[in-house]
Amino acid sequence: MSSDAMAKDFIALCAPEIRGNEWNYVKDCLDSGWVSSVGGYVDRFEDEMAAYVGTKYGVSTVNGTSALHVALLVAGVGPEDEVLMPTMTFIAPANAVRYARAWPVFVDVEPDYWQMDINCLDHFLHNKCDWGNGVLRNRTSGRRVKAILPVHILGHPVDMDPLVALAAEFDLAVIEDATESLGATYKGRCTGSLGHIACFSFNGNKIITTGGGGMITTDNASWAKRAKHLTTQAKSDPLEYQHDEIGYNYRLTNIQAAMGCAQMENLPAYVKAKRELAERYSAALSGVPGLFPMRAAAWADPTFWMFTMRVKPDQYGCNSRQLIALLAEEKIQTRPLWEPVHLSVAHRSESAGSCPVAERFWNEAVSLPCSVGLSRADQGRVIDRICKIALRKEA
Ligand SMILES: *Cc1c(COP(=O)(O)O)cnc(C)c1O
Repeated sequence: MSSDAMAKDFIALCAPEIRGNEWNYVKDCLDSGWVSSVGGYVDRFEDEMAAYVGTKYGVSTVNGTSALHVALLVAGVGPEDEVLMPTMTFIAPANAVRYARAWPVFVDVEPDYWQMDINCLDHFLHNKCDWGNGVLRNRTSGRRVKAILPVHILGHPVDMDPLVALAAEFDLAVIEDATESLGATYKGRCTGSLGHIACFSFNGNKIITTGGGGMITTDNASWAKRAKHLTTQAKSDPLEYQHDEIGYNYRLTNIQAAMGCAQMENLPAYVKAKRELAERYSAALSGVPGLFPMRAAAWADPTFWMFTMRVKPDQYGCNSRQLIALLAEEKIQTRPLWEPVHLSVAHRSESAGSCPVAERFWNEAVSLPCSVGLSRADQGRVIDRICKIALRKEA
């Protein structure tokens, strides 16, 4: 961070919150010498995450992207397969699909909650694919469609029941990218327990952090076992160092897991804080002409991990990027959402159609400061600035 960014009146977009047993548990690792890739905190963190999410197993990884890579492999995604995923997401899941030597197929998002559009998915599966002998093929590419990878963006769940029903109809694996949604529930069940396997991230801006880290959650015993195997170089004999396939060194360290255990203790409080921030933003900004803050669907109890709104420039008086620049002048850090992946130079050749909703949303979206530790006074300053900018156009 620049010295300017460290200044006292700077309001960060989403800073980590470290206020519990982090120091104690990390010190315990240093004092005991259990600093590396095995140790009591690794086991404990895996068990606690699985228990919280409501799955039988948790397998920790070095970050969320590697969790996605391994989850795809254990779910049976292989070379030249296709994986359906939303275009409106951070790029990590699309990259993970390519690491598995498969291809992402990008699906648009719905306009209300900005999540993967189940109607688009349904249309693609029923009208653009052929089903026979237990295999689904994309008619255009000729490739096998193997899995659906929903991403619960911004801490809001995807409408999973119809998605899981479609997956069952065509024998597809469901791999949830739950990296942004730890703590969110769908019809009372936690994201990360709604498909066949799921992934979490503990990057610095996520709701809990281990500096960097990830987790796979699943009820499938053999998948969990294989995930552990693949993340530890596929070592089949610990004494003789024999390896039965190409594995990876994707392990989380005991130091990181120690931090994770401490963060887990505060997760319910963090979720509560995020929801309160969201309530205050919604109350203050919903009435401002041209601003459309994110909302909860009837099926969802979101965390509002990254509180985001749409800006309609004709009504509000300036567009999303101008607003971001004006707030930056006030030392308020905000940001647009990710470029839709089907437009990204890294992936655009893999795109099938256009995704107009995602493209419009990309133009309009602004994420607002939403650190767990954001004070009421600082949030008030953000709201105040946004409301004042709206009034300028009448001046
Ligand atoms: C954060 C994130 C990931 C994983 O990120 P890592 O930095 O590898 O932990 C994956 N998908 C989405 C949608 C994310 O936001």
